[in-house]
Amino acid sequence: MTDFFLEGGCLCGSIRYEFIGPILRSYACHCNFCKKATGAAFRSAIGVNRSSFKISGDTLSTYKHIIPEHGRALWPSFCGKCGTGIGSTLERFPELQVINIGTLDQPEKIEVSMHYYSNEALPWICYNLTDTVFHEHRLNADDTLATPRKI
Ligand SMILES: [Zn+2]
Ligand SMILES: [Zn+2]
Repeated sequence: MTDFFLEGGCLCGSIRYEFIGPILRSYACHCNFCKKATGAAFRSAIGVNRSSFKISGDTLSTYKHIIPEHGRALWPSFCGKCGTGIGSTLERFPELQVINIGTLDQPEKIEVSMHYYSNEALPWICYNLTDTVFHEHRLNADDTLATPRKI
């Protein structure tokens, strides 16, 4: 996997971050949790190694949220001053740092062609024919790979 060096931060500039390393996944997630957590129609995000993710400036504020369907925790992280949602960490993938693409200084460097939770997507969402679209997560509950749906 190619190593990336990317930087980003929140709207007010109190939080800055950078990471060096591979982008493990890039996706749009249409689940109801991601809608609420981002305030947007869907989350567009990348997943990177948590150990390669460095924060400078203020400390990230976090909030623990339990997903009722499976009881696992997620921690959305955001700037305590301006409220920009930087990303999240997840109990299921403890080594992973999710970064919301919109907080990158150059979000245009990221391509997204994978979609999660199309079963909760808003009705006006469209996909490219070459996209990989999952009804729910790309992994089943038993961690086997889910089958993408036909677009
Ligand atoms: Zn801020
Ligand atoms: Zn989601």
